[in-house]
Amino acid sequence: MARYVDAACRLCRRENLKLFLKGDRCYTDKCAFERRGYAPGQHGQRRGRKLSDYGIQLREKQKAKRIYGILERQFRRYYIKADRQKGITGTNLLVLLERRLDNIVYRMGFSSSRRQARQLVRHNHVMVNGEKVNVPSYLVKVGDSVEVKEASRKIPVIIESMETFVRREKSPWLEVDSDNYRGVLTALPNREELTIPINEQLIVELYSK
Ligand code: SF4
Repeated sequence: MARYVDAACRLCRRENLKLFLKGDRCYTDKCAFERRGYAPGQHGQRRGRKLSDYGIQLREKQKAKRIYGILERQFRRYYIKADRQKGITGTNLLVLLERRLDNIVYRMGFSSSRRQARQLVRHNHVMVNGEKVNVPSYLVKVGDSVEVKEASRKIPVIIESMETFVRREKSPWLEVDSDNYRGVLTALPNREELTIPINEQLIVELYSK
């Protein structure tokens, strides 16, 4: 599957926001956004750049894609699916993204970034309802249990990220049993619970043109 491989920190600088793509490094003073909080490239330090409505919508979509580590085609597929569901399309879109297995692994604290979570899933370290699942885009359902395979529980990146999980924001829709490297999706998050800095309405406006 295709994936974005450009330097992660450039993406934060482009979106003018910390996207927390590099795990623990993002919480230290090595964070590139803290050191150079302007857009990358030759004209990155230009001030007062005014975006059109289209530009604003586009940036919002790019930001969402980058936070969840998804490329355009797949992101559009999520939008189409969200649009076909009952309810508010923008909220449906965010909930679908949140249900991805790599995101759940990250939110449960088994990895320090979604990128790292994707690797753990791909390398067969994660199980859903006791079965091995190595597809990062797998959509977790309410009631599903997600756990780190017993043989993988000594992997240093997993141990380290569980140690630093305490300082990360918790997700009330997940019940995590850190001692047993396991968690359950107890409900779908509602919009108020999702504190992710995305204005999904702008994405809906962009795609419905
Ligand atoms: Fe973004 Fe993390 Fe890099 Fe900081 S360290 S710029 S938050 S990816």
